[in-house]
Parts: sequence; C-alpha cells; structure tokens
Amino acid sequence: MMTEKFDVVIIGAGPGGMTAATYASRANLSVVMLDRGIYGGQMNNTAEVENYPGYNSIMGADLSEKMYASSTQFGAEYQFGTVKHIETNADNTWHVVTDMNDYQANSVIVATGSEYKKLGVPGELDYAGRGVSYCAVCDGAFFKGQEVVVVGGGDSAIEEATYLAGIVDHVTVVHRGDTLKAQPILQKRAFDADNIDFIWNTEVQSINGDGTKVTSVTLKNNVTDEVQDFATAATFIYIGLLPVSDSVDGLGITDDQGWILTNDQMETTQPGIFAIGDVRQKQLRQITTAVGDAAIAGQNAYAYNETLK
Ligand code: FAD
Repeated sequence: MMTEKFDVVIIGAGPGGMTAATYASRANLSVVMLDRGIYGGQMNNTAEVENYPGYNSIMGADLSEKMYASSTQFGAEYQFGTVKHIETNADNTWHVVTDMNDYQANSVIVATGSEYKKLGVPGELDYAGRGVSYCAVCDGAFFKGQEVVVVGGGDSAIEEATYLAGIVDHVTVVHRGDTLKAQPILQKRAFDADNIDFIWNTEVQSINGDGTKVTSVTLKNNVTDEVQDFATAATFIYIGLLPVSDSVDGLGITDDQGWILTNDQMETTQPGIFAIGDVRQKQLRQITTAVGDAAIAGQNAYAYNETLK
C-alpha cells in the first residue's frame, strides 16, 4: 500500500465530485478524486439530460466526458479505489483508506451519491442482469421488439419509460399510486406515447422466470386485492433512492437513514469534511444541484486549507 498526501481528497467522481475537483484544483490545491468505478457516477446510467444548462439535450455519458475534461484541466487526478473508511489524525487532518491505497488529506469532500432502492420481492435478485434492471440505458437494447415493465412513478421511472418506448415494442408502467410524481413535461411525453400504458394502484409481488430469464411479474392491485400474472421480458425498477454513505460510518455525520447532514456551506460537523450532491440530506437530487453544492464545497475547501497554513 502506498500513502499519498493531498490538500483535498474527493470521494466519488460523479458530477458533484468532478465539479468540486475543478473548483479546488483551480484554486491551486492538490486534489484527487477517488471512485470505485468509472468517473461520471449516475450520469453514466442516464439516457438524455435535458435540464443541464448549456445543452438542449445531451447523453449522460457525453456529459460525464465533458465534466471529466474540465475537472482534470487544472491538475486534479482521478484514481480508482473503493473508500472503506476515514480516520482522524492527531493534527486534525484526515486519513482516507481505500482497498488500493492510503491517503492523507487536509480536507475531504464526500460526493458518494445515491443508489436505487430494490423492490425486495422474490425473483429480483435471482434474475438481476437477466431481465431485472435498474438501468434502461445499459440494458434497454437487449429487449428490442419485446414487452417490458417499468416500476415506479417519479422522474426517473417516467423518463426512462419514455426512453425505453423508443427501443422496445411496448412499455407498461406499474405504479402503486393513482397519479405520477414525475414532472409534468415528463408525464405528458409518457401519456402521449402510443406504446406506453399504465397499471395504477398496483405493486409487484414477485418477478418470475423460466430459470434463465424473466417471463412475467405477479401484480397485486392494492385497492381491489386482485392478483394477475403479467407477461414481460424485463422489469426496470425505479422506486426511490438510498444514500451511499458507508464510507463515513462512524463519523457521526448522517441522519438515521444515512443521508449526510451539512449546513448551507456544505460543512459537516467534522472540521474539514464537506459533503455534496445526492448523498446530502436535501430535497432535490439532480446534476445541477450536485454541481451547485460542489462549487460551494470546493471554494470552502480552499478557505479551510488556508486556515491550516
Ligand atoms: P453520483 O452521480 O451518484 O456519483 C457518486 C459516485 O461516488 C459514483 O461514481 C460512485 O461510484 C462513487 N462512490 C460511492 N461510494 C464510493 C466509495 N466508497 N468509494 C469510492 N467511490 C464511491 N439528474 C438530472 O439533473 N437530470 C436528469 O435528466 C437525470 N436523469 C437521471 C436518470 C437516471 C436513470 C438516474 C439514475 C439519475 C438521473 N438524474 C438526473 C440524477 C443525477 O444523475 C444525480 O442527481 C447526480 O448524478 C448526483 O451526482 P453525485 O455526484 O452527487 O453522485
């Protein structure tokens, strides 16, 4: 194991982490972004982004590439590794431990994002990657010409249902409520599509298959209690988010669900540790809000480093 020292260690290279890297490195700090996967975060699983300023429409993966180019232009590095935990040093600096390396940091910006909730029904894990998916961009093309189910009623579910409708034969959105929570413009597109239908007030009880692939879902209407077996080649699940904050366990900076608590300067209660983006306790989890948080944290990491001189 190698130990490297940086002014700022950023955990996560999604839009939040990459923007914080741009700000902190442009202020002449030494910066590393650590990620357990490729840079880009959830943008890599997003088809089209239509609400990021400057682009009428851009594919999520293309926006990742553009942000990565910006984030490294002033010398910030990207390194691969899963952050296991963060420890405090006697001199108020931080020790960040990954499965690959050790890092010493004056300050840490946590940008570890969120991940999709699982349904927790029989068959979901058995058929993961064989018809159960949380990523339409990654897996939609496998189901060309077929019937697929999308579970959920929020922005992601409706946006991705519309994306899938352009690839597959037919999409059925299964939603446990009787109205959608998605933004009106997303709802209108889905309602206007002639190959998207909705099943309301209904929950998935199980995902069924023939041993190698998904063949149907068992649905239960939560008003009438009627149960039906609904034939489908795939189930795309978008039912809400969970924080990805295991790397800060033990620091006492999260609420009881694991979302990280900060003030409006992105400071946590631990000196020198900032949190940004989806992993924060906040109302709106979007690319724009992640990059807004990141600008504030990048600038405050600079101010914090100045106080250590
Ligand atoms: P993330 O993008 O989640 O990035 C976090 C990064 O941290 C990941 O790369 C992860 O690998 C890494 N990480 C986590 N834990 C560790 C660890 N322990 N060690 C190392 N690395 C770690 N937003 C919009 O604005 N417009 C849209 O149209 C839009 N559509 C979406 C569609 C879908 C299907 C999805 C999934 C999301 C969509 N979003 C959209 C939401 C948007 O992608 C997120 O709000 C945004 O990506 C959050 O950025 P972030 O940097 O906080 O976290």
